Amino acid sequence: MIEYRNEPFTDFSKEENRTVFESALKKVRSELGKEYDIIIGGEHIKTDRKVQSINPSSVDEVIGIISHADEELAEKAMQTAAKTFETWKRVSPEARASVLFKAAAVLRRRKHEFSSWMVLEAGKSWPEADADTAEAIDFMEFYGREMIRLSQRQPLARIPGEINNLYYIPLGVGAIIPPWNFPLAIMAGMTTAAVVAGNTVVLKPASPTNVIAAKFMEVLKEAGLPDGVVNYLPGSGSVVGEYLVTHPLTRFISFTGSKEVGLRINELAAKMVPGQKWIKRVVAEMGGKDAIVVDDDCDLELAVDAIVKSAFGFSGQKCSACSRVIAHEKIYDELLEKVVARTRELKVGEAQTPGIDLGPVVDDKAYKKILDYIEIGKGEGRLMAGGGKAEGNGYFIQPTVIADVDPNARIAQEEIFGPVVAFIKAKDFDEALQIANNTVYGLTGSVISRNRCHLEKARKEFFVGNLYFNRKCTGALVGVHPFGGFNMSGTDSKAGGRDYLLLFTQAQAVSEQL
Ligand code: NAP
Repeated sequence: MIEYRNEPFTDFSKEENRTVFESALKKVRSELGKEYDIIIGGEHIKTDRKVQSINPSSVDEVIGIISHADEELAEKAMQTAAKTFETWKRVSPEARASVLFKAAAVLRRRKHEFSSWMVLEAGKSWPEADADTAEAIDFMEFYGREMIRLSQRQPLARIPGEINNLYYIPLGVGAIIPPWNFPLAIMAGMTTAAVVAGNTVVLKPASPTNVIAAKFMEVLKEAGLPDGVVNYLPGSGSVVGEYLVTHPLTRFISFTGSKEVGLRINELAAKMVPGQKWIKRVVAEMGGKDAIVVDDDCDLELAVDAIVKSAFGFSGQKCSACSRVIAHEKIYDELLEKVVARTRELKVGEAQTPGIDLGPVVDDKAYKKILDYIEIGKGEGRLMAGGGKAEGNGYFIQPTVIADVDPNARIAQEEIFGPVVAFIKAKDFDEALQIANNTVYGLTGSVISRNRCHLEKARKEFFVGNLYFNRKCTGALVGVHPFGGFNMSGTDSKAGGRDYLLLFTQAQAVSEQL
């Protein structure tokens, strides 16, 4: 088998790539406003309750109209997934992996088309959307290979008179509940990891990005995935999401989203319900309050670049986004001035426009929440850049920098999930690390320093699942930076790493006496 390699990103500085992308966008535009059905066991189901998905850059533009499921259809999806599990679990790991490889190939062929859907439905800039599609391809290539590795004979100690084997077998039916911010990569990664391990699933996509998930169902179909292995169930999180979580046939829940919803799911899943005969496994990846620590001895330009990219890429709507800069007092003022200058140069605009730095935030709810936090921030620090709405017929927010924030202020503790960064001053490196660790989260973090002793101290003491030195704190690559957080950031599942598939299997040891 060909060795795993990350899918390359598209170089949009080349005119030929821009031209191809423009035509993909045009094609996708010609498909806007279509209807999307629920898909259970391959059957397309329309309901009267329809929701619209809209373009956050241009809120009058309808991306698609989606049939919403209710509890009755959630029940049908669960029963179908349970029935299909009986056949899918018997399909060999190699055959299951080959479906993922085919799906990766289909997605590679339709790469710009999928990125265009993300530009229009999620408000991603061209490069952010392109990276999302590349990551989805990576997940499928990586998990396919991982399943083949896990299906090989596992090393066990030998004793005379016995043959011993250990097999990684599937769990059963899973509820897949992804977020909207990596609407293709995370959704596809969570779904295909479960499926390649031999499970069947009900996929409840995040409501703002239902259409991208519906398009992904086309990829799985084209790749030859049997009907009923993935059941597409758009619907309200609090209604059908909870129905799936509390269902007695649900064997595991794979969730990525906010801390609040993750904790609720964890609590609900822990309660035994009549007819249930297992402890439900919960994989929950949640929010962050990620920090970049900037030491006094450092490359300041590199720090500025890392901060601006990590704080404002995709309008700060990444779980890994930098929302706190913790800077040594000796370089604090100079760093702040440089970051503010760079922030003021950033272009906010419609995601479909090439060359923008920030598109819109995803929806009305996010827009209001972020603007509220900016107001709170104005009372908690010194507003240095941005500070409110940006122009346009969408959910545009200015990239915002707030200085002199207390480490315990709300904007230094709560996840805002928008283009807002708080600057915090530290008297020395040790204090900077203490401040960095002083939240309930523990997802990503960076240290910008030339001091080897400080980097080594951070290696041991900066308590985050993904720690970076002298680079931005976003942009984890599948297979290279297995991803997952500590504390209230989640169960540290390490998506895109060698431990991930184990979460969707159980190991059976078989011993035969000779
Ligand atoms: P969210 O509001 O928690 O929603 C996540 C998913 O849960 C959606 O599909 C949502 O459906 C569903 N849901 C909502 N309430 C539910 C309930 N009571 N029971 C079952 N499901 C329910 O999060 P989001 O706004 O989509 O995503 C942003 C969050 O995800 C941020 O906190 C971010 O940090 C986090 N995130 C974490 C990672 C990571 O790897 N740690 C990666 C990406 C994002 P509806 O859309 O229908 O409400």
